[in-house]
Amino acid sequence: MNDPVAHGAPLIIPRNDHTISRAKISPNALKVLYRLKEAGFQGFLVGGAVRDLLLGLTPKDFDVATDALPEDVRHLFRNCRLIGRRFRLAHVHFGQEIIEVATFRAAAAPEREESEEEGEDALADSPPQDSEHRAVNDRGRILRDNMYGTVDEDVWRRDFAANGLYYNIEDFSVWDYVGGVADVRARRMKLIGDPEERYREDPVRMLRAVRFAAKLDFSIEAATEEPIRRLAHLLDGVPAARLFEEALKLFLSGSGAAAYRLLKEYGLFEHLFPATAAAFALEPYAYAEEMLLRGLENTDERIREDKPVTPTFLFAILLWAAVLREMNERQAGSSPDTSVLLDACDAVLKRQQARVSIPRRFGIPMREMLMLQPRFNRRTGAKALAILQHPRFRAAYDFLLLRAQVGAADPELAQWWTHVQTLPHEERLKLVQARPGESVGDSGARADAPRRRRRGGAATPIE
Ligand code: ATP
Ligand code: MG
Repeated sequence: MNDPVAHGAPLIIPRNDHTISRAKISPNALKVLYRLKEAGFQGFLVGGAVRDLLLGLTPKDFDVATDALPEDVRHLFRNCRLIGRRFRLAHVHFGQEIIEVATFRAAAAPEREESEEEGEDALADSPPQDSEHRAVNDRGRILRDNMYGTVDEDVWRRDFAANGLYYNIEDFSVWDYVGGVADVRARRMKLIGDPEERYREDPVRMLRAVRFAAKLDFSIEAATEEPIRRLAHLLDGVPAARLFEEALKLFLSGSGAAAYRLLKEYGLFEHLFPATAAAFALEPYAYAEEMLLRGLENTDERIREDKPVTPTFLFAILLWAAVLREMNERQAGSSPDTSVLLDACDAVLKRQQARVSIPRRFGIPMREMLMLQPRFNRRTGAKALAILQHPRFRAAYDFLLLRAQVGAADPELAQWWTHVQTLPHEERLKLVQARPGESVGDSGARADAPRRRRRGGAATPIE
């Protein structure tokens, strides 16, 4: 390694030479750190919180690293639960806030390779599976262990230098083994160690590089960037449930549009949503990519305004192109039918589970939302108004607006539904009775395509 600080002593930045103030640290995280210190343990704030504090941002969560064993931590805090199977972590609960306390680790093993719920409670009272590898002295502290380690071992398992900083509660200094402070200042994501090796160890780091670059507006350093395109396919081997968690972080953290652009640029998106990527590449569905981008921009905006966002809507915009294509292939030659849309949704969802899993609690409402799209075409008769009562109306209507924005639905239709919602019941009834000559039948779903085509191709709008 040619990094001058690598494997040496840390660069210690004293309190007066950095901008991290305790006033910006969660009081609960401070409580945990002070109690560890009082009990004679080391306590460091680590990872994203240190990075964000140096950037002047408000961290979303506070992680603590310590030389105390998970069992020690549990004895120090009444409100503590141990989670995780291979690597046990202590979660200290303060109402809604959880401070995650991790014992220093020596092994460069993939982080979070199991879901947190997996090991919760069930294992809280059983010994860790690797206890045979541990050598402990009679006070229960580690002497030698190939799993737990010291702070200067712990740092090498972290992903990016900017995420590898330690804020020491002892004297409020920042310990930097990996050039992390310089990277934060230069707004740069650089993997610790050999990039290809680190991606092979855990391909999710490719997604993390993109996520932080998008969220923090950081660049990805050349050597860290270089292998991504080449190794993007390694994502195919990552458990779909873990990719679901990562997808939520990528798209629902306020920088979803930027994250999408980077995922696409690095050839990662096609490994997460292969059917969508394939449909975007075909002219008749290319406009659905613009829908996705606009939808992500709206979502980013909502997050900035502290409004709620839902994975249901997210997956609808992520899968729509694939659903349309599937539907068109299924109904070729036959008359349009909403059941084709239903079958297409199911087929796409089913295949998608192999890459990024979509739990039923989001997949089912997503399907309902998409199934409402053809129903918006019906504007005659009292029955047309029933859609307003549907639990998925709001999301489906937002989706209709998005379709109208890219020219895939009639803007007049979208306006009509906007207008209807402003009216009292009596007025609504008058409106749906006053549309003579309009087709009453829910003629169902024909292919969605831009009404005003900008790139040519056959337009067969749903209406
Ligand atoms: P944020 O919480 O803002 O999304 P973060 O950097 O805190 O970002 P977390 O997922 O909370 O990210 O992880 C905390 C820290 O754990 C990271 O900063 C990093 O040091 C380490 N880490 C997390 N995931 C990995 C991984 N896959 N490989 C190596 N280290 C990781
Ligand atoms: Mg974090």
